[in-house]
Amino acid sequence: MGTFARVHLAFERGEGVWLTATNGERYLDFTSGVAVNALGHAHPHLVAALTAQAQKLWHVSNLYEIPEAERVAQRLCAASFADVAFFCNSGAEAVECAIKTARKYQAVTGHPERYRIVTFEGAFHGRTLATLAAGGQKKYLDGFGPVVEGFDQVPFADLEATKHAVGSETAAIMIEPLMGEGGVRTVETSFLRALREICDEQGLLLVFDEVQTGMGRTGELFAYQRTGVTPDIMALAKALGGGFPVGACLATREAAQGMTAGTHGSTFGGNPLAMSAADATLDVMLAPGFFDHVKRIALLFKQRLAEIKDRYPGVIAEVRGEGLLIGLKAVVPAGDLVDALRAEHMLTVAAGDNVVRLLPPLIISEQEIAEGVARLDRACARLSRKKDAAQ
Ligand SMILES: *Cc1c(COP(=O)(O)O)cnc(C)c1O
Repeated sequence: MGTFARVHLAFERGEGVWLTATNGERYLDFTSGVAVNALGHAHPHLVAALTAQAQKLWHVSNLYEIPEAERVAQRLCAASFADVAFFCNSGAEAVECAIKTARKYQAVTGHPERYRIVTFEGAFHGRTLATLAAGGQKKYLDGFGPVVEGFDQVPFADLEATKHAVGSETAAIMIEPLMGEGGVRTVETSFLRALREICDEQGLLLVFDEVQTGMGRTGELFAYQRTGVTPDIMALAKALGGGFPVGACLATREAAQGMTAGTHGSTFGGNPLAMSAADATLDVMLAPGFFDHVKRIALLFKQRLAEIKDRYPGVIAEVRGEGLLIGLKAVVPAGDLVDALRAEHMLTVAAGDNVVRLLPPLIISEQEIAEGVARLDRACARLSRKKDAAQ
């Protein structure tokens, strides 16, 4: 189907932060498959783990115990607030599970009337019918029939509006702790803390959509860990399998108490092949020093980006984000900057609010950051010359 407006460019190989196109040209990858290839391309540990698993067992049904999935669940829970996990194959499915878990919790704890979920303008939660309703973006909902009922959207980070939207039928509040697709917009910790308080006072569940921010992107394994505010339910996907499609919904035992045998399921979710990818990703990320590297590189990168912004005020207005989830709020159309960067053989991706996202693999070196900055400098120089010529 013609659902994607694709660039005329295809790749046949990748190594680390580099991609090789079918015409042999090399590209510096600051998109990482939209925050997926956190360990870069063809990471030796992931290749070895997947190859070994591929020779043993790819798939068995969830009718049986899957030790590989139990191991990944235990590791994710040990590294987070959660007690239990459900595995699926994508971010939208992880969020869908989070929504169902929250509604079911209310239903089995004596509040079947509580099914509504408060969400925020500009949010992106996926492309299934329910997650589209949660995201509330008109351009994605148009023409797909009645919008799934039960989502109340309020302006971004507006505490009064949030309090006003919570009512006797509210089950949960759901938010990305750092808004990705919506334009790399930071949510104040004080706001997240206020949401936690509202949830505690009113018996609601707090759901964090960490599909994009999770798995190391912001410099911690999960973005919420930087804030000190803990959710009851969390959706993960993108980088969880380092490029292999896998998602997860994590929750406390309390929040997941309604999710008993038969209430939810997935044919592929948590199969041995996917779990070997997630397990290998965790091996690398949980090794000592991994996040020190991400934080150090991110700081360095942001300093260099601030210099670029100062040099080209007619191209870049602001540098945003946390860790290696960085947004350049553009003055020129964001798409022009993405195109100019691609002309420099550097891959980036646009987001809402006229922002260009920079999402390099977390394993990127100082030298490769310097290379990215040099290409960005050239792209900005070209755009500002063009702008001057037009005036
Ligand atoms: C990408 C994304 C999703 C959807 O993930 P898919 O794997 O495309 O279904 C959901 N929430 C957030 C925050 C995302 O960034």
